[in-house]
Amino acid sequence: MTVLALDIGATKIAVGLVGADGVTHEVGRITVPPSGVWDAVRGLLLAAANGHTVSIVGIGACGPVDATVGVVEPLNIPEWRDGFALVDAVRELFPGATVRMAVDGVCLALAERHFGAARQTPDALAMTVSSGIGGGIIVGGMVAVGHTGNAGHIGHMIVPGSTDPCACGGVGCVEAVASGPSAVRWARERGWEGATGVELAAAAEAGDRIAKAALRRAGIALGQVISSAAALLDVDLVVVGGGFAQAGEPLWRPLQEALGAHARIQFLGDLRVVPSELGENATLVGAGLLTALGASA
Ligand SMILES: [Zn+2]
Repeated sequence: MTVLALDIGATKIAVGLVGADGVTHEVGRITVPPSGVWDAVRGLLLAAANGHTVSIVGIGACGPVDATVGVVEPLNIPEWRDGFALVDAVRELFPGATVRMAVDGVCLALAERHFGAARQTPDALAMTVSSGIGGGIIVGGMVAVGHTGNAGHIGHMIVPGSTDPCACGGVGCVEAVASGPSAVRWARERGWEGATGVELAAAAEAGDRIAKAALRRAGIALGQVISSAAALLDVDLVVVGGGFAQAGEPLWRPLQEALGAHARIQFLGDLRVVPSELGENATLVGAGLLTALGASA
C-alpha cells in the first residue's frame, strides 16, 4: 500500500512517500511550469507511485483553497487562479484512493505540531515567509482548518498605514510588504539593482542602505501582524519558516523591535518568535500527516 504526499507551492511542487511511521521522504520535485501544471503534477505523482496501488494521497496546496470541494485557487499559479479541481483530478488518477487536501499553512502547522518547535506547545502559530506569506493556527493542540479550509492566512492581515496593492485584490496586506518579492520590488523602486530575496539579504548584511531599509520595513510589518495575531489567539509561540525568513539579523531585529512595541498586553509576556527548524520540506511533511490524521476534506 503506497501513501503519497504532495506539496503544491507557489514556485515548486514536491512529492513524497509516507512511511508507516508518518514520516514523509521526498522522491520528486519540479519548478512550477508556466502552463501545463496538472500534466507536470500527474507525471510527478505517477513516477512516485511507480506502478504500485496508491491508497491515500495527502495534499498541501498554496492558498487560497476551497477544501470543502477540493478546489485550489492559488494566488501565485496563474493557470489555476480561477480554480482547479485538484482533489477530483488526483482521485481520477488513482481510482479508489482516499485524497485529503489542506492549505499549505495547515500542513505547516501540523508539521510543527508533530515534528517541530510546537511539539511541546499546544497554542502556537506557524508561519512561512517566502515568495508569499502563509500560516497555520494551533489552538489547544489542534490545527484550525476554518470554514473553507483557509484558516491561518496571516499573509492577508493588514499592516498599519500600508497602501501596497496585494495579489489578493486587497491593499496593505503583509504579503504585499514583507514577502521576498515584495521587499525586492520596494528596494528596486528605490534604485537597488538586485533581483532576489537572497541577494537582498546579502546586500543588507553587507551594509547596503536601501536593502537594509527594505528588510527593516518587512521586519516591522511582520512584527506588527504577529503581535496582532498573537493577541487574538493567545499563543505563546510563533514559528517562522520559509526562505525569506533566513534573511537574518536585518529582518529579525526590526521584527523583534516591533514585537517589543506592540505585543505589550500582559498575557503575551512569554511570547517567543523563533525560526522553524523543519526546513524547506515542512509543508510536504504536513501533507504526509494529513494521510494519517484525516484532517480536512
Ligand atoms: Zn492580500
